[in-house]
Amino acid sequence: QPAVVVAGAGMAGVQTAVALREQGFTGPVTLLGAEPHQPYDRPPLSKAVLLGKAEDSAFDVDFEGLRIELRLGVEVTGLRAADHEVDTEAGPVPYDVLVLATGAEPLTLPGTEGVPGVHLLRTLDDAERLRPVLAATPAIVVVGAGWIGAEFATAAREAGCEVTVVEAADRVLAGALPAEVAAPMAGWYAEAGARLETGARVAAIEPGRVLLADGRALPAGAVVVGIGARPATGWLAGSGVELGPDGSVTADARLRTSLPDVHAVGDCASFPSARYGARLLVHHWDNALQGPRTVAANILAGLTGGPEQTYDPVPYFWSEQFGRFVQYAGHHAGADTLLWRGDPAEAAWSVCWLRDGTLVAVLAVGRPRDLAQGRKLIESGAALDPARAADPTVALKSA
Ligand code: FAD
Repeated sequence: QPAVVVAGAGMAGVQTAVALREQGFTGPVTLLGAEPHQPYDRPPLSKAVLLGKAEDSAFDVDFEGLRIELRLGVEVTGLRAADHEVDTEAGPVPYDVLVLATGAEPLTLPGTEGVPGVHLLRTLDDAERLRPVLAATPAIVVVGAGWIGAEFATAAREAGCEVTVVEAADRVLAGALPAEVAAPMAGWYAEAGARLETGARVAAIEPGRVLLADGRALPAGAVVVGIGARPATGWLAGSGVELGPDGSVTADARLRTSLPDVHAVGDCASFPSARYGARLLVHHWDNALQGPRTVAANILAGLTGGPEQTYDPVPYFWSEQFGRFVQYAGHHAGADTLLWRGDPAEAAWSVCWLRDGTLVAVLAVGRPRDLAQGRKLIESGAALDPARAADPTVALKSA
């Protein structure tokens, strides 16, 4: 059987290797990971690992038993498709089939890279650097009120730090949710004792303080920047792999790239969704779990000549912030009809998005049953009665 090489040993890379074995692939599988650590799960980094409640979050995978060759501390620097080789600092690695799974890297605030006291939160090393910072309880400025910013602010408040979150947009989660839905979530910051400054831009970071564009200065013993992430695909420049304007590898519906024998999955890859009529770049854990099963199946199909699978999931993610369990399934657009289930002033509520009478997305705060039922309804494309769906006492599946 051919040799499969996977570039990137995060969730998507590890799951690809595991799925290949689960699906009966017996050839050599090599997993190349830039980080020196045993492959690990990222969501706990902004939760238990950050607070020291868990030491690490290494995946419970028996690489040796599965005959997966794990090469850690090996950064892949280039792809030469004509030679069927990738380059690493340790020399070239030949492949028959290559899977791109290099994930994403956090955006930095221009001019603050390498400034002492300014942190990102993407890797285990980042979390380990931040742990003693939290323990020392300085005043902390968090830049960005997205998912990571909210989760970090939650942990920092729990650790007892004074927290100010600075957000350039006029609301929290501006990239993900409409103003109407984000509005009640902004209240969670104050409730947790964190200060939230929306519509505020960082002008400069100086030792001990953050200067805002409006002239205000915020005391800051540490700064955490959580302003988004972009696909880690810089190393593919000039390789011939097609990249989109967002930097993602533009995979097709089978998660194959523009080059033969090269697949892409996880945070580094976008794919066309027939379900949503859009190309999706999903930076969430479930996508890095489900996508690899399709990649593995299609690698095997390529060997046997069997039918290939298409990847068209109902995206799902969760976030734990300010004592709440927030879940989202699906994908909504501005034109979809928004429907409330419950009162956002209460502890638990949901929002549904309908398109032509069918459910396309659901956001559930403390209502996991809405999420589970909604996800199935989205998958099946069943029609919903808006009046019943808006009644939180009616199970979503009966609406
Ligand atoms: P990554 O996890 O980024 O893994 C890619 C790996 O490839 C990395 O280890 C990287 O070092 C390596 N790599 C990169 N370039 C190279 C190269 N050139 N050569 C070799 N190796 C390379 N999602 C949720 O749904 N819910 C959550 O609550 C949640 N919490 C999160 C909290 C944090 C702090 C973070 C950072 C993410 C969170 N996510 C969450 C998102 C989720 O973790 C990601 O979607 C998931 O990790 C994507 O997996 P991946 O393997 O595609 O990419």
